[in-house]
Amino acid sequence: MVPIVGIPCAFQAPQDKQGRGASVVSQSYLRALEMAGGAPMPIPITSQEDTLRALYGRIDGLLLAGGVDIDPSHYGESPHPALGEVDERRDWVELALTRWALADGLPVLGICRGIQTLNVAAGGSLWQDIAAQVPDALRHPYYPNYPYNRLSHSARLEPDSRLAKILGDLELEVNSLHHQAARDVGKGLRVTARSPDGIIEGLESQDEAWVIGVQWHPEWLIDDDLRMRRLFEAFVAAGEAHRGGKKT
Ligand code: MN
Repeated sequence: MVPIVGIPCAFQAPQDKQGRGASVVSQSYLRALEMAGGAPMPIPITSQEDTLRALYGRIDGLLLAGGVDIDPSHYGESPHPALGEVDERRDWVELALTRWALADGLPVLGICRGIQTLNVAAGGSLWQDIAAQVPDALRHPYYPNYPYNRLSHSARLEPDSRLAKILGDLELEVNSLHHQAARDVGKGLRVTARSPDGIIEGLESQDEAWVIGVQWHPEWLIDDDLRMRRLFEAFVAAGEAHRGGKKT
């Protein structure tokens, strides 16, 4: 059976007076998962916990995608002036799913906003704006006027990390489309990658669970860099193993 990977959607505001808005997810993640042998399942914006529980029960892995900023109230801060747009409906859906996944050992892959969601769900905090709060940091937001696969800085990986084993390298050139990053690391997580300025670019679980977050966007690099393809393949394989474990 092909493992099913749930991807929480973003909320798109109503386009006219009659609209109720829409639940949307970028095709780039769906494509990367399909190429890796997984079946992506978008999880809609909902405020119903029963709905979310039912969908959660069907998935073998959780992909947390990129997007707008997480409301800083979720890590006990008030908004910094440089905070961007937030999406409270999406925050609620993703934080609930991520906490369930962490409790159950469900495989999780967090990308960009997704590594931040992972960290906040585990009790960590974020830099609300790297440029405003980390004076010596490199430039990290290369959007919207740059190719999404632009290699913008390097990342150094921890040799004993699951991430380094999957990618098979300790030094990478990565794309960078973010203005926030993990600050204090959440409970049960460890740092696996940093850019040269010390900004966290990778997190993973300290235990056996397949929980990995990356601050870059591997889904935009799979055509250029086979290592990024392996990350999605390893995630889908972990979902398959988790599904097998559920059945026995
Ligand atoms: Mn970066």
